[in-house]
Amino acid sequence: MRTPLIAGNWKMHKTLAEARALVGGIRAGVEGVSAVDVLVCPPFQLLLPMAKEVAGTRIMLGAQNVHEEPKGAFTGEVSVPMLADVGCTHVIVGHSERRHVFGEDGQRLARKVRAVVDAGLTAVYCVGETLDEREAGRTHQVVEDQLSDAISAEIPANKLVVAYEPVWAIGTGKTATPGQAQDVHAFIRPKLADVYGRDTTDALRILYGGSVKPGNAADLAAQPDVDGALVGGACLVAGDFLAIISAAASVGAAT
Ligand code: PEP
Repeated sequence: MRTPLIAGNWKMHKTLAEARALVGGIRAGVEGVSAVDVLVCPPFQLLLPMAKEVAGTRIMLGAQNVHEEPKGAFTGEVSVPMLADVGCTHVIVGHSERRHVFGEDGQRLARKVRAVVDAGLTAVYCVGETLDEREAGRTHQVVEDQLSDAISAEIPANKLVVAYEPVWAIGTGKTATPGQAQDVHAFIRPKLADVYGRDTTDALRILYGGSVKPGNAADLAAQPDVDGALVGGACLVAGDFLAIISAAASVGAAT
């Protein structure tokens, strides 16, 4: 039985006052929800104050990106030890915006995943095809290549979460159907089993991301290989994020 994980990727949103209000709302709402893990990933400047806001609650803190080196002359970058120092337990690696807007390739992302897990944090490793790739029938191949870029037996399975995020569904309002999501998740799980074995992989969480909203969260969460969500736009409003968390909790409770 996998505990669902609902993760919020705030992207480049929220001032300090706005962030405090958002986390305050989430904090109040998650108190009554059990059996779902909750992660918030604010931008870098908010990590330290948000660490204080979530301290002593069940909300975990993650970063949206990281540099692969522990320190050095890398202007504008932040390292894994720095993230651990402020209380992050998770780091999103390979989000489609990092791949497609900032040009991060598979080799770079492999180094980032490695740096994250070597420091004892959990990597939320994102994979997903573009619309052109889907229309060309290449979805499975693209996802398989992205997995094999960064996932090997050297990456401990208990420090890994995979997020399937079709690029065409991110921030577009076009969600993959539950069937489309399940198809790719059911493709990913045996690929991970090739690396880790079946029993270990049965415990590994594969999140869906791409325009998850309160209205579609339950149908997505009901899919057998969908173990939660990586949420962008809808995580910026406490009520919407909480509704997605509740949808995952009620599906979990019903199974
Ligand atoms: C994301 O940023 O990972 C994401 C899935 O965004 P949205 O939910 O807005 O599509």
